[in-house]
Amino acid sequence: TKLADYFKGGRCAMSFELFPPKTDEGMALLEKNVERLQAFHPNFFTCTYGAGGSTQSRTLDVVEKVKAITGLPVASHLTCVGSTVDQLRDYLKEAKRRGADHIVALRGDPPKGSETFQAVEGGLRYANELVELIRADFGQHFGIAVAGYPEVHQEAPDPQTDLDNLKRKVDAGADVVVTQLFYENSDFYRFRDDCVKAGINVPIVPGILPVTNYKQACRIAAMCKARIPDEMAAAMNESDDADFQFNVGVDHARRQTIDLIENDVPGIHYYVLNKSSAAAQMLDGLSLGADA
Ligand code: FAD
Repeated sequence: TKLADYFKGGRCAMSFELFPPKTDEGMALLEKNVERLQAFHPNFFTCTYGAGGSTQSRTLDVVEKVKAITGLPVASHLTCVGSTVDQLRDYLKEAKRRGADHIVALRGDPPKGSETFQAVEGGLRYANELVELIRADFGQHFGIAVAGYPEVHQEAPDPQTDLDNLKRKVDAGADVVVTQLFYENSDFYRFRDDCVKAGINVPIVPGILPVTNYKQACRIAAMCKARIPDEMAAAMNESDDADFQFNVGVDHARRQTIDLIENDVPGIHYYVLNKSSAAAQMLDGLSLGADA
């Protein structure tokens, strides 16, 4: 299936994002949770690459494993961090050989403690160059998703420049835009309108994270520059109880989901962090994903 095709049906599509576990126990747990997540009929899974300093080599292990378990398409994320063009090509060849269906093409973050991204010699500077490389070398073999930022990327000087740069990625051949997580749907709707005005005519897929405790919410908000709405912070802080915070976070993501579906989003990408219980509670009884 072509990546954009998931987002063409009448029903809201759904994808789950995983990350490569560092240990064998983590991998065993991931397998169990992937089986549970499959019961919700996602259209595809994705696996991150080197995010937060994690290992890059296990991304394709996860891709292979998840495909074997679910039979569903799986996307490998790929960043330009630390790789020459030749090394990126080698990774893409390996991704093709091991059955990755799609690529989430990213630049990646600057190293910790640094504000600016520095390309390695013989490497790439921006994600649009990675999209170009994939299309030049692999044609239409992979579907390509790129990242969009409803709250504007932290290094962008202003929202319009950030949108212009997003358009470069789409013009280079990206099939869909998947957004950074956000907690306030109005931020997404504004971004979606701005994309249309900027002539970005591919599906814009919101990214949603069901947060499960306040500390985690703050850590992720700082990392991704996603604003936590005051009401959500206040609600979570009413109690330190773990179950209470879990319910508040998951209910928030569930309300976001319902509202997004009502506002005709083509799909939703969930940052599930290799877990399944939050997703199960969030999605219970809702109708999205592939037809059962
Ligand atoms: P780019 O699109 O290259 O943009 C980076 C900055 O440069 C922006 O400010 C943009 O406005 C500007 N810019 C872009 N192109 C140009 C140009 N041609 N000329 C001038 N300026 C330009 N990180 C990981 O390490 N691993 C992952 O697996 C991962 N997965 C992600 C998945 C999603 C859905 C999202 C939203 C993010 C993910 N990230 C991941 C984080 C991502 O790597 C960071 O947000 C990173 O800082 C930017 O990556 P990008 O691909 O958006 O970069």
